[in-house]
Amino acid sequence: MLDAVRLLSAGYCTHMEAMSRIGAPWRSCRFPSGFALLHHRRHGPILFDTGYTRYFADETRHFPNRLYAFATPLHLQDSETAAEQLARAGIAARDVRHVIVSHFHADHIAGLKDFPRAAILCSLAAWQSVARLRGFAAVRRAFLPGLMPADTETRLRFVDECSTAALPRAMAPFDKGWDVFGDESVLAVELPGHASGQIGVVVSSGASEPVFLIADAAWSHAAVRDCSPPPRVTTAFLGDTATYRNTLRKLHDLHRCNPALRIVPSHETPP
Ligand SMILES: [Zn+2]
Repeated sequence: MLDAVRLLSAGYCTHMEAMSRIGAPWRSCRFPSGFALLHHRRHGPILFDTGYTRYFADETRHFPNRLYAFATPLHLQDSETAAEQLARAGIAARDVRHVIVSHFHADHIAGLKDFPRAAILCSLAAWQSVARLRGFAAVRRAFLPGLMPADTETRLRFVDECSTAALPRAMAPFDKGWDVFGDESVLAVELPGHASGQIGVVVSSGASEPVFLIADAAWSHAAVRDCSPPPRVTTAFLGDTATYRNTLRKLHDLHRCNPALRIVPSHETPP
């Protein structure tokens, strides 16, 4: 059972908006690095992704990783990291026992080292797609192995191993998710295409309506509303264009059928 869901962000990068959505203008745009803090009655604070940290800057100082920072320059105050924001809310990093990773792009995992006691929850496919990547092959996939804690292998938990639960009919065409904590408070949903094995989560707190955190399955609500994907060059570079567009179409259909549902991309400031 979740008592609260807080949508936060830790830093941002800049990139051409036109590369994020067909029809968007050719201008530099801010992409906040979103994460969510879930308060679980039994498991305590849980993170969905981590946003940026200074580790990203450290890891991208030299070639070839520097290419990543060149493509998406980082803007971050030290006070903006997830760990710092949690500390100000009275939550110690050691009390975070679960970090759900939507996918292993560096802007989603840069804070993992700040939460040394947390299990790292992800899909098996997401981890297998990056686990052996190093050097240029890694940065080419937006993965920086140096961001992973040294004891990652012992902390990984795969959501695919959780039992599945039916999603409410109002979530159609999505029909099932992995019940991450066994109480249907956090249901992990496959959202492939942007990156291998990417997941989103449907989170429900108390009496409030569920929220669908979709990570990078879309980079803006406008993209979901209009079913307007990034240009092919972007999705082909990062993942698989046909799969991406199929996932985006499902999100678009969900939004059309259930316009009141909050669908939250990682890289757009929540309204
Ligand atoms: Zn991504």
